Parts: sequence; structure tokens; C-alpha cells
Amino acid sequence: MEETLKILVVNDDEVDRIAVSLALNKAEINIELHKVSEINKALTVLKNTTFDCVLFDNYLPDQDGLNSIYKLRSSEIKVPVVILLDQGNEQIAVELIKAGATDYILKSKLSSEILAQTLRNAIRLYRVEMEAALANQKLKESYEQLLHKNQELERQRQQIQLQNLKLLEASRLKSQFLATISHELRTPMNAIIGFSQMLLRPKFAQLTNQQADMVERILNNGKHLLMLLNEVLDFSKLESGTLDLKPEIFDLSKIVNKTVEEIRSLAEAKKLSLVVKTDLQNTLVFNDPVRVHQIVINLLSNAVKFTENGGIWVEVAETPNNSVTISIRDTGIGISAGDFENIFEAFRQIDQGISRKYPGTGLGLAITDSLVQMMGGEIFLESQLEVGSIFRIELPRQVILAPRLADSSSLNFGGNSLYLSHNNNPQFPSNFSKYSLGYPYLKP
Ligand code: ADP
Repeated sequence: MEETLKILVVNDDEVDRIAVSLALNKAEINIELHKVSEINKALTVLKNTTFDCVLFDNYLPDQDGLNSIYKLRSSEIKVPVVILLDQGNEQIAVELIKAGATDYILKSKLSSEILAQTLRNAIRLYRVEMEAALANQKLKESYEQLLHKNQELERQRQQIQLQNLKLLEASRLKSQFLATISHELRTPMNAIIGFSQMLLRPKFAQLTNQQADMVERILNNGKHLLMLLNEVLDFSKLESGTLDLKPEIFDLSKIVNKTVEEIRSLAEAKKLSLVVKTDLQNTLVFNDPVRVHQIVINLLSNAVKFTENGGIWVEVAETPNNSVTISIRDTGIGISAGDFENIFEAFRQIDQGISRKYPGTGLGLAITDSLVQMMGGEIFLESQLEVGSIFRIELPRQVILAPRLADSSSLNFGGNSLYLSHNNNPQFPSNFSKYSLGYPYLKP
């Protein structure tokens, strides 16, 4: 069943009102008709009752059509308005529509069909307009909500940025503290080492065996402490990006052999075999010999430290792509695959308990990794628990110094110079399968 339309006719002319009533009665629509003669009365009625449409005469006793429209629209009553116009007044129809009228009908053309059609159209149009306005309003609200959320996100981003800056500053202060303290401690430590060395010279002091033994212990402990201090100092320099390589041409076999000999007594003390094999056609490389020595000593001392039985093998070789490799294999406690990434992070040790079995700062591998990265090289690791480990360093024969990035940390916390592999049968590097160490493990 068709809905009943509630129409308010505002017209002071009785003849017009009857004509409209007749036309509406004839039209095939259900109408509930209300009639008033003035705009002010119409407004009062409209405030209290909802109508589907208002039919205005253009000339009312209290207002003309245009003013009636203005009055109605400023009262914020929402209803479609159709104006009845006298013939010859079509020019004001445009102004009436602009002012807010929905449509108009010429009195001369008033018929039940035109009236029904115009009213239906006006109501439909008005409903569509209302729906569009509602949708617009909702859109505006969502936009405002989004804007609000965006502002909130921006505020959070700024907070995080501020936190980051604070963290960076704290980290910078920590590095500065480490650098200052280790630098300050080195001076008295050098004095302790120097004076104990002097005391051990027969020229300076005639010490009893017991005294000489005690001074020797002071000397060895002093050297160990100095080594730890140097490690911390290197770490803070790498972290602040102030460590520079000083490359020169040198004989790699000689440096590796010399380093192995420095470690030999430690290996012998643990009854470990220590074998070195250099297989280089050209033994010369262009690199920083001090830092290459540091890398080898870090890896070798770890190999000795973490091996109780068996031995250590060092192999120096060259690759077809003009690189050299230094591999250090041990039959030690090994490293589980889950720890591969961690051990290259600064201060990370697999056993971090206070009563841990193996001493150390946990900086050796982080420093090694950063140095290898600075040299444009790569580290490969293959290991299995209780079988052993192989650390292989691959370095370009000739390092190219990258320009130092101001204020950037060159220390690699799990950086991209690492290739790690877990293998059941640790052998020399031919067996390395590469896994790039990034955030997820990705097979290249
Ligand atoms: P540190 O030796 O001072 O503890 P490193 O950075 O050199 O620090 O090594 C980090 C950790 O990696 C060690 O604490 C140890 O757990 C593990 N690690 C290093 N080298 C070996 C190795 N050859 N065999 C077994 N574990 C090792």
C-alpha cells in the first residue's frame, strides 16, 4: 500500500485552496491535507508536526514567497517546499529555488497529475538530499576522528623520537664513560706493568724466588687487565665510529704465525694441539696489521678458552676472487644454532651467570665482527655443540677505506658481515652453507 503523504498547504486564497484540494483528491496518492493561511501560522504548525511537504502560495498576506522561504529555512525546519506561482512569475522561480524551495508549479498548469508528480519528486529529492547530508555529516565526523587519531599518532611519534634521543644520549654518555674510565685506568696499569718488569730485571732488584714469582703474577695480571681495558676502549671507539684502520702492506702469513706463537703456551698449558697451515701464493696484503692481529688473537684465544680436549687448527688460504681467508677450527664446546646471532652482540656470552666457567668481557666477537665489516670482509661460522666450531674470516686482499660516517656506530650488533651455519660435521670452510644474518633468517 502506498504511504500517506502529509501535506501542509499555505494559502490565503480560498479558491486556490479548493483547486489544490480538488487536484490532490483526484491524484492517485493518499494525502493527509492540512491548511493554513499565513506563513507565521505555518511555522508554528511545522514546529510541532512533521510534514512530508509544504505547498506555499507565492503571495501570502504576511510575506511574499521568497521571504517565506528565507523564514522557513532560517527556522531550521527541515521539509521540502513547493511554491505555487502565478503565470508570468517564472523569473523568480530560480531565486526561490536558490533560497531553498524544492520545486514550483505554475497555477495555470495546476492539474492532479502535475501536482502529484511534483510533490512526489520534491519529497524524493528532499529525502535524497537529507540522506546525502547525513552521509556527509558522518564523513565529516569520521574525518575528524581520523584527524584526531593522526594527531594522537603524531604526538606518540614525537614522544618516541624524544625517548630515542634520550636513549641515544644515554648510550653516548655510557660510551664516553667507558672510554674515559678505560683510558684513565690504562695509565696506572702501564706503570704497574712497567715497574714489575723492571723489578724482574736482575739489574734492578735481587728478588728471592718467591718474590720474583709474586711480581711475575702482578705482571701477568696487569697485562691481562690492560688487555681487558684495551678491549673496552676499542669497543667504545667502534661504537662512536672513531676507530680508524691504518692500512699498510704486510705479510699475512707472518702475522698469523706470530699470533699463533703468542697463544701457543696457553694451548700447551691445556695440552691442546695447535697446528697452523698457510697456503698463500702471494702472502702480501694491504690492511691494518694491528687489527688483523687483534681479530686472529680474539678468535684463537676463544678457541683455546672454549676447548678442553683435542686441538686447534689455523688455516690461511686465498680465494679466486682476490680475497684471503683465515679459518680457526677447534674441538671445543661448540655453539648451538640458537646462539649464533647472540654471540656477535656486545657483552653477550652464552654463559652469563656470575659463577660462569669461562672469563671474558663478551666484547671479543662484537669487536671482531665490526673490524671485519670495516675491512669489507665477512665472517662465517659453523659449529655444533660438543663437537667444535669453525670461525672463518674472509678479507679482501686490499682493504678500501670507507669514509667515516659522522656520529654513526660502526659496531655491528648482528650485522651483515656474518654468515652462520649449523653443521653436524665441522670441517674446513668448503662445507659452509651460507645463511645471511638479518632479522629473519633468509636463505640467499
Ligand atoms: P668472551 O670470549 O669475552 O666471552 P666473545 O665476544 O669473544 O666474548 O665471545 C662471546 C661468546 O661466544 C663467548 O662467551 C662464548 O659463549 C661464545 N664463543 C666464542 N667463541 C667460541 C668458541 N670457539 N667455542 C665456543 N663458544 C665460543
